[in-house]
Amino acid sequence: MNAPTAERTERLQLLKHRAQEMLQEHQHIDQPEQLASMEVTKLLEDLRIYQVELELQNEELRAAQQESDLSKRRYQTLFDQMPLAALVVDGQGIIENCNARAFSLLGPANRFGIPDNRLFQRLSGDDRSRLHIALRDGQHGDPLVLPGMGLANDNAAPWMLDFHLIQLSMDYHLNNHTLVLLVDRSAEVEREKDHRFFSLLLDSSDNFIYATDNQGKMLLANQSMLTFLGRPREEVLGQRRESFLPLRDAVMHNEVDQKVTHNAEAMTLEEQIHMGGTKGTLEFLTRKFPLHDADGRIYGVGAISTDITDIKARQRQNVLSESVFITAAEAIIITDTDTRIIRVNPAFTQQSGFSEASVVGHRTSMLKSGRQNTAFYQAMWEMLVTHGHWSGEICNRTSNGHFYTIWSNINAVRDESGKVIHYIAVQTDLTSLREVEAKVQHMASYDSLTGLPNRSLFTDRINQLMAITLRQKSAFALLFIDLDHFKEVNDTLGHQVGDQLLITIGNRLREAVRTEDTVARMGGDEFVVLLPAIDRDKAELVANNLLEMLRAPMTLDGAVQYQPMASVGLAMFPEDGNTPDLLLRNADIAMYEAKLSGRNRSASYTQRMSEDKASVFAIQTELATALAQQELRVYFQPKFHLGSGALVGAEALVRWERPGHGLVAPLEFIPIAEKSGQLVAIDRWVLDNALQQVAQWTRQGLWKSSWRVAVNQNAADLKRPHLVAELQGMLAQHGLNATVLELEITEDALLENTQEIIGLLGELTALGITLAIDDFGTGYSSLSYLRQLPTGVIKIDQSFVRDMLINQSAHSLIETIVTMAHNLGHELVAEGIEDQAQCDRLAELGCEKGQGYLFGRAVPAEEFMRMHLTAV
Ligand code: C2E
Ligand code: MG
Ligand code: MG
Repeated sequence: MNAPTAERTERLQLLKHRAQEMLQEHQHIDQPEQLASMEVTKLLEDLRIYQVELELQNEELRAAQQESDLSKRRYQTLFDQMPLAALVVDGQGIIENCNARAFSLLGPANRFGIPDNRLFQRLSGDDRSRLHIALRDGQHGDPLVLPGMGLANDNAAPWMLDFHLIQLSMDYHLNNHTLVLLVDRSAEVEREKDHRFFSLLLDSSDNFIYATDNQGKMLLANQSMLTFLGRPREEVLGQRRESFLPLRDAVMHNEVDQKVTHNAEAMTLEEQIHMGGTKGTLEFLTRKFPLHDADGRIYGVGAISTDITDIKARQRQNVLSESVFITAAEAIIITDTDTRIIRVNPAFTQQSGFSEASVVGHRTSMLKSGRQNTAFYQAMWEMLVTHGHWSGEICNRTSNGHFYTIWSNINAVRDESGKVIHYIAVQTDLTSLREVEAKVQHMASYDSLTGLPNRSLFTDRINQLMAITLRQKSAFALLFIDLDHFKEVNDTLGHQVGDQLLITIGNRLREAVRTEDTVARMGGDEFVVLLPAIDRDKAELVANNLLEMLRAPMTLDGAVQYQPMASVGLAMFPEDGNTPDLLLRNADIAMYEAKLSGRNRSASYTQRMSEDKASVFAIQTELATALAQQELRVYFQPKFHLGSGALVGAEALVRWERPGHGLVAPLEFIPIAEKSGQLVAIDRWVLDNALQQVAQWTRQGLWKSSWRVAVNQNAADLKRPHLVAELQGMLAQHGLNATVLELEITEDALLENTQEIIGLLGELTALGITLAIDDFGTGYSSLSYLRQLPTGVIKIDQSFVRDMLINQSAHSLIETIVTMAHNLGHELVAEGIEDQAQCDRLAELGCEKGQGYLFGRAVPAEEFMRMHLTAV
């Protein structure tokens, strides 16, 4: 109310008061005329004025009223137009005002209308008391939120609303009133519900459902997958596969994801996960599909994987069963319970002559030969019905009417309920069985590779032969043959080539002996020959003839020229042993002796050899301390130029001053040391001593700088790490030039790890060291291989030199070696030259250098110096 109006009201009040007073006074006056005097006129005037004033005032009031109405309407409109349902409630929750939205939400008032407690009526008990407490305790300040209030909805699930309560202030005379805003959460709740629903759906699936982003990080993994991985979700989400899958699988799966992203196309594939342990390898059928965002961009890859490990296993099982069915040697017939044929396998067709098409659908009785009577079939059916199995011999008829006998095994096949659904008959043709029996018999007695009698047949034969020989008071010989360098052929050219070699050897042996002799293969590269009614001298002759025949060159692997060689041990019955075991053992010992004395030869057993065998162990034990006890010696054998006869160097050869045995030659302990791994240390010791000696001679002016000292190196030595650096160190330590050193390596030592060895030899020659291939011609050599070697020296083995003037093939071999070596730029040294004729012939053939007893034996340094060195 404004101020002028208040003033007017006051004046009006005053006027009214005065008018009342005057009216009371004039009730006592009898002279109205007097009264209608000036005062009355004034009063009336005043009253009129005030009436006008009152009217004006009324006018104003009406205007104010109108304005108030207008603003009230404006407020109500605003209130109604609010995007939220809003109510004004009093302290008891009775609705005092309510906007249109709230109205539509709460619906019409109940029939009692007032007090309007619709809000409470629509709330559940719990929510009602929450609201009640909030209203009661309501405080000014921030709005209070009651989340998740359920408002009954006549024919559907309740609406989910958040109630925002705002205490209205006293300024509006709305003390104790609260504005309640109802924020609809139903959509959100619906979304949450959906989310829960889909999560549940994902997590209850047996399939792996997962997704990765473009960086390969996991966006989603359902429960099955987490259980499989054995990790909680937070350890999987955000991680790359590599952190929980085997690396090779992770890489493979990532590649598929990239393909899906790149092609923007879903794909179905089979995947594997190799979990190892008890889980093993799992197989999955996976569908992968690109994930698009709202803008259509691919942000990842989704996948659904089904574990098909069992299915695949069953599939493989089926394939296996099928292939067994198809490839079985036995005829298989599958029938229904009515004995109608459903399937037969190829073996059946082969056995009976009936094609599958001609028997399927027919009863098995079509195969009957008529040779079994009804009682036979009755008994068979009785057995099948009661036991589900029958087996026995049946005579059947082939498609062209022939009879054939089979052994039939019939089994009933039942379903899960135990009902018979099929019969399967497996039929073995007894004719072929007999053949198989014969084959097995043969296999038991003969070696499958060479077709020679095997150990077991050999044992039979030797036993028989012993009995006969004893009766006849005669003797027989046992030859034990072991191929030389067979392991190298096997290792370098492969087992197939090895087999080829063994077959050839087997054939050669069989052809070489008389019909009454027995050749047997004992296993590996070992053969034995039994020579009945023979004496030792003759047997030795046979042994050497066999060796000669075996040596005929052959082509291995279609290209490689190879000369097989063997070592043969000979033992006589009864002199060298009166049981098969003893005889074999002694022939083996003799063979070993032949190997030791250089291979490619035969040796006849003597009692001494057995003693030797025992001594091997002693040698090994004593050798272990020989180095420390300074029992080894280095001997030097001179090497000469064949043309000029000038000294060109020496070969260092080891000797062992063995306590109680005198000077022991290397062949007696080097092979033993090689086997026991002691040779590497020995070789190093010899090398060091030889270099030290040459250094001393050089200092003394006795050794020419163009001469070389040759030192033997065992194959195992080449594999020693840092060999090159070590050799360099040794040469430097003795103040020697690398060109003074020649390393002799046997031919077969070069056969292992060819490329590696060739690389190493290259390094050695680059240093200035000369390489010599020792005992050349005795081992396995391929020209192509020799070509790869760095140029150096080839040492013709002494066995060829020994035989060259008496044996044409030895001679031509040397010729070939010389030509070949020269073509490849190698220098030649002949070993074991014992007479002048050999020396002359070798010089004629073009061999540059030589060593041998003709020039001088291996002698101690002191003696070497005295015999061969003069001040230069
Ligand atoms: P090799 O390297 O072929 O040595 C030649 C062998 O033939 C030596 O026998 C030598 O004394 C002998 N010899 C030389 N001239 C003649 C001859 O005119 N007629 C005959 N019949 N023999 C002759 P040695 O010293 O008994 O050595 C035998 C084998 O032992 C050597 O054959 C070599 O392979 C090995 N060897 C010797 N010393 C060592 C060594 O320090 N380390 C290694 N790893 N092996 C060694
Ligand atoms: Mg040598
Ligand atoms: Mg040699």
